[in-house]
Amino acid sequence: MRIRLADITQPTQFREKVGPLTLDLGYHYGAQVEPVDLFLTVSPVQGGHRLDGEFAYRAVLPCSRCLEEARVEGIATFLLDYQPASQAPIPEEEVEVSIEETQILYYDEDGLALDALVSQQLYLEFPEKVLCRPDCRGLCPRCGADLNQGPCSCPPEGDSRWTALGQLQKKS
Ligand SMILES: [Zn+2]
Ligand SMILES: [Zn+2]
Repeated sequence: MRIRLADITQPTQFREKVGPLTLDLGYHYGAQVEPVDLFLTVSPVQGGHRLDGEFAYRAVLPCSRCLEEARVEGIATFLLDYQPASQAPIPEEEVEVSIEETQILYYDEDGLALDALVSQQLYLEFPEKVLCRPDCRGLCPRCGADLNQGPCSCPPEGDSRWTALGQLQKKS
């Protein structure tokens, strides 16, 4: 579904199912996102449109430690200003971009694709590290065995980095 922002002359509410989506996380890993219910209000503002949106999401990502499935869910809210691409300033070299300018997004005249909008927000939402369970033991840094399945046959002396991380997480 695409919304033609140029056609919207008064605040308009949308409720649309978007997805399911597959997001590329790089390194051959992806996130599987269940269909989301997107609530969106589009309002005309000076020079363009403001999008005020919200959706709840549930997704499966690879666990940051063992690469098995980890479930992530949450609610994403966003407030974005869009202007037609034809109004985008012509990029010049050595022009300093002000913070205000970087917050304006541009759409092409074909309209705004809602799956792209939701995907973009999900990339911002997903935590840097996701765990399949809070006490995931991860993979052995030496032999690669999944330590959730039991200890591997490596000598017990561990990498201090991992030990420190484990202790930190126990405290929190
Ligand atoms: Zn895990
Ligand atoms: Zn091992």
